[in-house]
Amino acid sequence: MIKLNNDVCPFCGSSNAHFKKNVHGNLLFECQDCTLQFFSPRKFNKDVYEGEKIQGIYESYHSLRKQPTIWLLELIKTIKNLNFNINDKLILEIGAGDALNYEYLKQNFKISSNNYEILEVDSKSVAAAKKRGITTAYTQFFDESFANQNSDKYDILIITEVIEHQDNLNSFLENAFKILKKDGLIFITTPNRERVFIKIGERTDMPPHHFLRYNKNFFIKNFKNQIQHIGYYFLDHNNLLEYTRLLSKSKFSTRKLWIIFYPLLILKAIFAKLLNYGEGLVVVLKK
Ligand SMILES: [Zn+2]
Repeated sequence: MIKLNNDVCPFCGSSNAHFKKNVHGNLLFECQDCTLQFFSPRKFNKDVYEGEKIQGIYESYHSLRKQPTIWLLELIKTIKNLNFNINDKLILEIGAGDALNYEYLKQNFKISSNNYEILEVDSKSVAAAKKRGITTAYTQFFDESFANQNSDKYDILIITEVIEHQDNLNSFLENAFKILKKDGLIFITTPNRERVFIKIGERTDMPPHHFLRYNKNFFIKNFKNQIQHIGYYFLDHNNLLEYTRLLSKSKFSTRKLWIIFYPLLILKAIFAKLLNYGEGLVVVLKK
């Protein structure tokens, strides 16, 4: 049995964690107190975002993505179906990339660049976001000093596919709640560690890209008083096709052999629906 070495749970601080598995040389543990899964050690590498090492993923952020992501579509559906009011609210999106979310949210809700600010550490993505009309962009890490300067400022935080990258979830969420007004809402999306066929594309779901893994139970257990909604997003056909091209590119250095992966991903999508285990989670928390 591999033991956790010189590390504690990055959410609750417990050292009581069981070894789960070795993911391509990275050790994954599960906290026995809060149930978070985390890699140890967690070594951050800024080149992942600036250096375009994972071809086709971060690279596409710099040339203005057009197609909405599956989490963005589910987020819009959730806001509409559950009547969360985000119209004319002051919004901060943390880790906004090229501001694709802004582009689609403003088509669906009363949102403009006057009330939609972004924080994004990758300067090329910020340049792309500005082309979409974003005027207030903080090119910095989301840390305690940002939180202290902006406490009780925002009505809404949008944090899509970001929390799996954190190496200290506790301080990240403390800072998030700090900059939120009373009764403010946080909209989070993140990959679901209980998705089917998790081994497909798992190399991007490990350090230095992702450090933490979540399931529904983690949020239900630890955010009893804040949780407003928790649901799944699923693969849709456009994203399934794009996924096959990315897999083809990473395995064969060309997008053209995508068809090889197509049957596998169709199966994955079918099983996900049948078993009701989505690709990722949409979570709404209230301060
Ligand atoms: Zn824990």
